[in-house]
Amino acid sequence: MSETTEIRPDNVDASEIKKFTAMAARWWDPDGDFKPLHRLNPLRLDYIAQRCVLSGAAVVDIGCGGGLLSEAMAAAGARVTGVDAADAPLQVAKLHLLESGQQVDYVLSTAEQFLETHAGKFDLVTCLEMLEHVPDPSSVVSACAGLVKPGGQVIFSTINRNPKAYALAVIGAEYILGMLPKGTHDYSKFIRPSELAAWCREAGLVVHDITGMTFNPLTDQYRLKRDADVNYLMHCSREPAL
Ligand code: SAH
Repeated sequence: MSETTEIRPDNVDASEIKKFTAMAARWWDPDGDFKPLHRLNPLRLDYIAQRCVLSGAAVVDIGCGGGLLSEAMAAAGARVTGVDAADAPLQVAKLHLLESGQQVDYVLSTAEQFLETHAGKFDLVTCLEMLEHVPDPSSVVSACAGLVKPGGQVIFSTINRNPKAYALAVIGAEYILGMLPKGTHDYSKFIRPSELAAWCREAGLVVHDITGMTFNPLTDQYRLKRDADVNYLMHCSREPAL
């Protein structure tokens, strides 16, 4: 590791927490404010399941929100802990377990605070659609790298930063198609794959793959594609211990 990124336990944007708190009650409505996450969820789960063993794995889902991905991984046999800095989405996530019958352990924390007591404890760390909502995403990447066991896997997803991403993820999704509430995303917080990959490497992770998730408004379908111009997933691992 040539450099290390500073880990900031206070790495929280209060206005983001307020926003997700206000939206929390609608988390599990497939046609509500989180419609894109509902639509993306099967694709994200497929990507993770193709690359990581879920059955029996100890998994932490950072920025889990209302638990869409956490529950899907639990249903695939993982032992999942969901971590989020906002309490309201976690309360919704806990209530939803009563409906689904799944088991997930939900914890109110940032990734950085959670690392203080859980370093190296997880086979898989997932952190999806969260990095673009924090003041210092590189600190979250370092915390995720610290949470995974040597030889374990880390999956990130976020939104690329370029004119096409602005046109589709902000103007298209929020203003034209109305798929997300206006103000959900701040373009300046979007992250280029090269930036995310550099933070991963600085944190001691090896980057294996970058895959795009593209939306076609004509067919109303999301797909996994090589095109990472807008939404994308990144698969990394921590080197095994020598
Ligand atoms: N990962 C989930 C939810 C994404 S929404 C999914 O893809 O389905 C982003 C979530 O990140 C929200 O629940 C928000 O409360 C959470 N979040 C924002 N800042 C955070 C921080 N600093 N630490 C932990 N969670 C945070």
